Amino acid sequence: LVLHGFFVVPFIINCLFFITLVSSRLLLNPSLTTDNNNILCKDTICMKTASSDYGKLVQDLPFGVLQPLLVSDIVRLVQTSYNSSSPFTIAARGNGHSVRGQAMAKDGVVVDMSSLNSRGVVSENTGIRVSGDSTLGFYADVGGEQLWIDVLRTTLLHGLAPVSWTDYLYLTVGGTLSNAGISGQSSFHGPQISNVLEMDVITGKGDLITCSRDLNSDLFYAVLGGLGQFGIITRARIVLDKAPTRVKWFHIIYDDFAKFTKDQEYLISIDDGFDYVEGSLITKNSPASTNSFTPDVASTINALASKNGILYSLEAVKYYYNDEIIRTIDQDLERILKALKFKSGLIFNKEATLLEFLNRVRSEEVFLETLALWDVPHPWLNLFVPRSGIADFNQAVFLNIIQNHSLSAGPFLVYPINRKGWDDRMSVAIPEDDDDMFYTVGLLNSAGPGVDPAVIEEQNKNILEFCKKAEINIKQYLPHYTKKEEWMKHFGKKWNVLKEMKEKFDPKLILSPGQKIFTSD
Ligand code: FAD
Repeated sequence: LVLHGFFVVPFIINCLFFITLVSSRLLLNPSLTTDNNNILCKDTICMKTASSDYGKLVQDLPFGVLQPLLVSDIVRLVQTSYNSSSPFTIAARGNGHSVRGQAMAKDGVVVDMSSLNSRGVVSENTGIRVSGDSTLGFYADVGGEQLWIDVLRTTLLHGLAPVSWTDYLYLTVGGTLSNAGISGQSSFHGPQISNVLEMDVITGKGDLITCSRDLNSDLFYAVLGGLGQFGIITRARIVLDKAPTRVKWFHIIYDDFAKFTKDQEYLISIDDGFDYVEGSLITKNSPASTNSFTPDVASTINALASKNGILYSLEAVKYYYNDEIIRTIDQDLERILKALKFKSGLIFNKEATLLEFLNRVRSEEVFLETLALWDVPHPWLNLFVPRSGIADFNQAVFLNIIQNHSLSAGPFLVYPINRKGWDDRMSVAIPEDDDDMFYTVGLLNSAGPGVDPAVIEEQNKNILEFCKKAEINIKQYLPHYTKKEEWMKHFGKKWNVLKEMKEKFDPKLILSPGQKIFTSD
């Protein structure tokens, strides 16, 4: 009976889908019609969710929302659009944590990827399956709709974990692989896109294709960092490694940017040192949080930051695979720490499990939710800054623009990333110089009560203008542009290949219209 239901339910759905499509062919818009539409969800909740995101800056209403039970439902939707004389746009929506409508499809169809995971239907293409073999090592086959937190929890049951992360884990695998997926581990393992062995992708023609470095490699490289332009990722094979049992987590304070960045660069260039290196600003408006420090320490640091104007906090984490070792800081680490030029006495550490460390932003989310400060507009600006420009950037942006802006409360992230873990064949744009490092800067402002997002947007504009004038050739991460020339400049030498891949895999410009890349003037 169960098996029977398993086949019959999708069959009926498919028939309804077909009938809808056939009947709608007679109407003005052949594939999208308001009546007789059994497939698309158009209720208030569906439409509201699909027309908003974490940024709360853009609101684009779709025609309807597909809540697929199976990967084949998405295949059929894309084929319908592709085969129609007036194709409609389609956007996969992971967890909608974009900030500028990138997962929206105005008047098109938003595919709510999470529904592949929520109806109790297990298909061979979705879910999380951990495997390993002598050639590939350990890996997990993961549905594109899966949240990284669930990938972590599942792989930990096997004593394994992915090696490259984002700071926040309630993002989908498909969503972060469409950008890059960066965090403090990126210097040691590359971004998340560099830790994918294979993918299943539905192209803009509705073909479901398996791709890897050796198989359909042009699709593989295009999709990774490809902002959803070339296909919808329905499965990704993610590299796993032995999971550390505990971590030692350091916060180290600097009052001098040159010393701070020199130490960051040192820590990401040595082997057998830390496993994660990041950094952030501590300012009057963006104080040290009690999440990272005890209340006493936080107030000492904040008092110092007020006096100094700004402090820099280097965050570094060492993984341990044996509970015994963590009780003492091993000698190698001691030697590394002694070489650092932080402000005397201002080094702090604590222990945590891997899960506690990786899931650290969740507690901030829960806290901000209680204050109604999570679900507010987020006019974020994320940049990759060439190493050669980071000192000038500090002077003009951190010390002037941000420090003097009373509404700019961050958090503000700044840390270097080794270039060697990035594969130039992938679509993501990073600084084009040949330095072996570049910086990532995250200006993660919120516009809570009393803060007009437009004021922060103006600040962001000024920052971009400063970079242009100072000839600091930044690249936006999680980019947002509205003009084709801006996109061409953004992708630089990759533009022609991307255009070719778009023509090959999504010639009717169906996928991820919210990015406004190929559809902009
Ligand atoms: P969505 O916003 O739903 O989609 C993003 C884009 O990808 C859209 O164009 C969409 O159409 C496309 N897409 C979604 N699913 C698929 C799929 N299966 N196949 C193809 N295309 C798809 N990023 C980092 O790199 N490092 C961080 O540390 C980090 N921290 C963050 C913290 C917070 C609180 C937030 C809100 C975001 C953070 N991000 C970070 C950014 C985040 O990685 C991106 O915004 C990512 O796209 C969000 O994933 P999502 O599942 O919500 O994607």
